[in-house]
Amino acid sequence: MKMTVIGGGLAGCEAACYLASRGHDVTVKEMRGVKNTPCHKTEHLAELVCSNSLKSVGEDTASGMLKAELELMHCSLLKLAYKAAVPAGGALAVDRSLFSALTEEKLKSLGVKVIRCEADGAEEEGITLIACGPMVSEKMAEYLCEKCGAGLHFYDAVAPIVSADSIDMEKAYFAARYDKGEADYLNCPMTRQEYELFRKELISAERAVLHDFEKGDVFEGCMPIEVLAARGEDAMRYGPLRPVGLRMPDGSKPYAVLQLRRENLAGDAYNLVGFQTNLKFSEQKRVFSLIPALTAAEYLRYGIMHRNTYVNAPGVMNADFSLKSDENVFVIGQLSGVEGYVESIASGLMGAINADRRANRKAPFVPPKSTICGALCRHITSPAGNYQPMNANFGILPPLDGGKIKDKKQRKRAYTLRGIQDMERACADAGL
Ligand SMILES: Cc1cc2nc3c(=O)[nH]c(=O)nc-3n(C[C@H](O)[C@H](O)[C@H](O)COP(=O)(O)OP(=O)(O)OC[C@H]3O[C@@H](n4cnc5c(N)ncnc54)[C@H](O)[C@@H]3O)c2cc1C
Repeated sequence: MKMTVIGGGLAGCEAACYLASRGHDVTVKEMRGVKNTPCHKTEHLAELVCSNSLKSVGEDTASGMLKAELELMHCSLLKLAYKAAVPAGGALAVDRSLFSALTEEKLKSLGVKVIRCEADGAEEEGITLIACGPMVSEKMAEYLCEKCGAGLHFYDAVAPIVSADSIDMEKAYFAARYDKGEADYLNCPMTRQEYELFRKELISAERAVLHDFEKGDVFEGCMPIEVLAARGEDAMRYGPLRPVGLRMPDGSKPYAVLQLRRENLAGDAYNLVGFQTNLKFSEQKRVFSLIPALTAAEYLRYGIMHRNTYVNAPGVMNADFSLKSDENVFVIGQLSGVEGYVESIASGLMGAINADRRANRKAPFVPPKSTICGALCRHITSPAGNYQPMNANFGILPPLDGGKIKDKKQRKRAYTLRGIQDMERACADAGL
């Protein structure tokens, strides 16, 4: 059947891979190349807009559990992410250029057509999957508003990237927290005096535009560092500047530590972990240079803040990611109200599985509620007064049978084990 995927980001590329592998005639319409978004930097498909981390792979983490579920569903982009992985301790971080290149190669090998254009609505023929992401163009946002009622939004921020050779290596050191795993992170320590000056300048620095996010509609998981700093003297030391377990090479304890994560395999660029910001570019350079290892840092990309749009899914969407008003139109990715790279890939895969099932007149596939994927499907359809995007976390899963397990790690492992077993059964039943 003719399948049109609008948006060649994470969800769109995953959906296109799945649908093409099922023998459908797939076209991806991607506007970059004709029109850019405020956050993307290239014309490449599956570009990661901010951090290069796809988060933890640990079996006692919700993002690790989500990855295990995706493997059971034969997720294409996750396989490519592992191929493009850069060292990042217990996390899966990728070389973003390689990841995009591998994705483009994969789509080509599957015969997916890619057209560069700004789409303004669903196709008349076949099934359309709308995967335009949080920075959906205005034309498509208008179309969605017509189809689904008013759109919702919050504000999201991106962290800066600096070149490796501009970091003062005399003042930075490699270490893993509590010496667990490989020492992949480059740590930039601060004394108490340096931290206090940094915080003072950060709070009073000039911001790019005074946005509504200051009134509170900022996503807690991606809070600008200046907003966090203003919350209290030690807020950053309990957050991205947490020093515990990161002793300096001479054995002393730092007062605060900024961690830098490798951006690519070459190791010539580093991401300032947790430093998403809305400061003016000149202010980022001035204030971040107060961190001793970054005094002369060269910025390959400055942090920015952006409006993040999603549809008010409960009421307008089905749990299989199709629209109630038009079951041949699916909304996938962040636009549907999931939050995060891997969550967007997961919704792309689930939407595509269901588009294929719709084409073949099969019942929808909605994973069990004990799985992260199933819980995310339920999230988009559960009525909520204040509908907010959701990322993978154990809080969205139903309690374990047989009472609460006291040990936190064991409890999380038990959630993962239960979810994986249920997902295995569900995939087998659905013939996936
Ligand atoms: C500023 C910002 C920072 C983020 N940082 C992180 C992070 O660090 N970690 C994390 O896990 N998540 C992050 N997210 C959240 C989310 O995971 C990403 O936005 C992710 O890329 C969403 O995937 P997607 O496929 O839904 O959208 P995208 O990957 O953005 O893909 C959407 C695609 O649709 C295209 N498009 C838009 N409109 C049209 C149109 N009319 N016609 C054709 N094409 C169109 C766009 O050009 C784009 O290529 C961030 C989001 C934002 C906004």
